[in-house]
Amino acid sequence: VPELPEVETVRRSLAAMIGRRIVAARLFRADMCTTASGRRARPADLLAGEVVRELMRRGKQLAIIAQSGRVLVVHLGMSGQLRLLKPGSKAQKTNHIHAVWSLDDGSRLTFRDPRRFGGLWTLESRAALEERWSGLGPDALTMSPRDLAVAAAGSRRVIKALLLDQTALAGVGNIYADEALFAAGVRPSRRADRVKPEECERLTRAIRRVLALAVEARGSTLRDYVAADGRAGQAQLRHAVYGRGGFACVNCGTVLRSVSLAQRTTVFCIRCQR
Ligand SMILES: [Zn+2]
Repeated sequence: VPELPEVETVRRSLAAMIGRRIVAARLFRADMCTTASGRRARPADLLAGEVVRELMRRGKQLAIIAQSGRVLVVHLGMSGQLRLLKPGSKAQKTNHIHAVWSLDDGSRLTFRDPRRFGGLWTLESRAALEERWSGLGPDALTMSPRDLAVAAAGSRRVIKALLLDQTALAGVGNIYADEALFAAGVRPSRRADRVKPEECERLTRAIRRVLALAVEARGSTLRDYVAADGRAGQAQLRHAVYGRGGFACVNCGTVLRSVSLAQRTTVFCIRCQR
């Protein structure tokens, strides 16, 4: 499931689109694209005829900004992939491709999503994007300890559930929540409002570090995820707890526990995480 590092890696691997004109756009499944007015998306909604100005990201959401100010928001959901194909090259998998954009240099962008939890949203302006993103918490890569302390103080949920809540902080999912809680030595089942300010500070630093390292490693490839250039990530090789329930803790050797918390499989060390 793409989290912040995977979406950021996709954003960076789409950089060649900047300054290019989208000459055509085709949508194969109308229900994969939502327009502001609710009508069926036209090629112009998908930025056909527009020059790409910027690629932005907030949490796990990606936005393609056109010179005109129009915006296309992309959610990768569970299995979404954006691939930028060089002129003349073919997509390896053509099933479940829901949209294709042709660029003026002959390259093509494809959006493929077999499980269809992702999608496209068209917006008229940057202001509409700001409004859409105002519902998200601060981006987890750059959030401050105070952001987390404020969110934690007002929440009676377990800290793991708070980390997964995109309105509290944007970008963390199951993998990096478990990794950050382990790195900070905080037990995932602690009630958020009982996590002390100094622990929130440690946890914030851990979240930022874990995410930054994962971006450096181009994200975690567990199943479907690849960057827009087709390359898999390497961050999964560094996971200390995610997917390691029943194995030895890398710090102390204690067998890692795997429990269900916030409806998600959660792995932690009873000795290292208090
Ligand atoms: Zn341990």
